[in-house]
Amino acid sequence: MVVIHLIDGTAGQRLPVKPEKWAACNGCGLCCSEEPCGVARQFIPDHPEEGPCLALEWEADRFWCGMVRRPSHYMRLPNDWADWALGGMIAEALGAGRGCDADF
Ligand code: SF4
Ligand code: SF4
Repeated sequence: MVVIHLIDGTAGQRLPVKPEKWAACNGCGLCCSEEPCGVARQFIPDHPEEGPCLALEWEADRFWCGMVRRPSHYMRLPNDWADWALGGMIAEALGAGRGCDADF
């Protein structure tokens, strides 16, 4: 059994169950709660090397990548005017929409 180390903001709600590898991502959040990805490590200032990602967001009964939704917030940029472009590039770099690539 895989343990989710930290789930923030769920208020005790039931989480989505991780699907099979390469099935559509359902936002279970397991991958990002296990360890931060390269995007988080490289672009979120002072992000710890281990533990859950600081950009994991919970909304509408699933997790979302905050670096796709509002990267300026996590990158501590002075404004959010480039969020749409940065978020799109980050989504592409992460392989968003290509299915669950988590091995566990
Ligand atoms: S990629 Fe897989 S483990 Fe990560 S949130 Fe999506 S379904 Fe869950
Ligand atoms: S930056 Fe996004 S994809 Fe990467 S670990 Fe954080 S929430 Fe997950």
